[in-house]
Amino acid sequence: MSRFWNKLVSTLDPYVPGEQPRIQNLVKLNTNEHPYGPSPKVLAAIAAHTNDSLRLYPDPTALVLRQAIAKRFDLTPEHVFVGNGSDEVLGHAFHALLKQDAPVWFPDITYSFYPVYCGLYQIDFRAIALDDQFKICVNDYLPALGAEAVLGSANRALGAGASSSVVARAGGIIFPNPNAPTGCASPLADVERIIAANPNIVVVVDEAYVDFGAQTAATLIEKYPNLLVVRTLSKSHSLAGLRVGYALGQPELIQGLDRVKNSFNSYPLDNLALAGATAAIEDEEYFETTRNAVLHSRDALTVGLQSLGFEVLPSAANFVFARHPDYKGADLAAGLRAKNIIVRHFNKPRIADFLRITVGTDAQCAQLLTACREVLTAIK
Ligand code: PMP
Repeated sequence: MSRFWNKLVSTLDPYVPGEQPRIQNLVKLNTNEHPYGPSPKVLAAIAAHTNDSLRLYPDPTALVLRQAIAKRFDLTPEHVFVGNGSDEVLGHAFHALLKQDAPVWFPDITYSFYPVYCGLYQIDFRAIALDDQFKICVNDYLPALGAEAVLGSANRALGAGASSSVVARAGGIIFPNPNAPTGCASPLADVERIIAANPNIVVVVDEAYVDFGAQTAATLIEKYPNLLVVRTLSKSHSLAGLRVGYALGQPELIQGLDRVKNSFNSYPLDNLALAGATAAIEDEEYFETTRNAVLHSRDALTVGLQSLGFEVLPSAANFVFARHPDYKGADLAAGLRAKNIIVRHFNKPRIADFLRITVGTDAQCAQLLTACREVLTAIK
């Protein structure tokens, strides 16, 4: 608290990112990075830069990167917005599109940055409960079904910070597919039902992890002017350190994001990021090979955890969300940390006994399983 802060800053409850320690031999399975590095073509594109790349400002429209992304999705560059990580893209989406008179709706268990943006941009929100299987209930997002159905579940889950007055109308909807930190995917047909039932508000589908097993909603963009798909190169393209995210939507939505971006920072992506990201998008073969390796390791990790007695939610992401019926999540996380393995633990209602474990290399997954076995024995 400082007397120099304005009133808003004093009320903020900022997002706390997973730790990024640089400790030798640490098995880092806490922030869903890809275990294999980016395509060698990315490194080559970055290395090819001359000093003009640093001396001169980058292209504020990021046209070459937007063209490469548009090509991959059979869209035009006017359908593509890029930003400094999808966190920045999401922030602009809240600011430009989801901030309306009615509250924005999102699941009660989801990416914990969403309520933070609401705090920053002064947006009321409503947290809608996932079902007992930790799945998104489509019917809760369909106003056509009537307020009662919606209100029933919204009341189940009024999270901290959500307003207490019950409002049946959404000003916008956002959810990740697959959801985080559960890893559970919704079928595209369910996603489409939500978009189609809410034609007058923007529906943002956060596809940070979609490449690991869910169906993208990008194919629906031409059909629905209210759909914004947000994606990132941090996960499936192994570029968390480069900070590149993007959004796909009809030009009307993209122009709204551009207006906010150009009122904030004209150059969110530097020349190295633009070149590296373009090379990553273009190297589809490397992307597929490394993505498939992660999927393979995820299957083995899931089976290994299950054989130790863990319940593992069905994952369509590059992480698994798992709990053990006999042990507290916090104890397991602390036990693993003592063995130089870090995973993510959220001390939150309904999920406090879960661990979110990033899929690492096969060797890292094996180390994790050995450590889990030892921790389970030690704290029995
Ligand atoms: N969406 C979800 C659901 C995430 O888990 C993350 C990663 N924390 C992001 C978006 C943001 O990723 P980035 O800013 O690295 O693109």
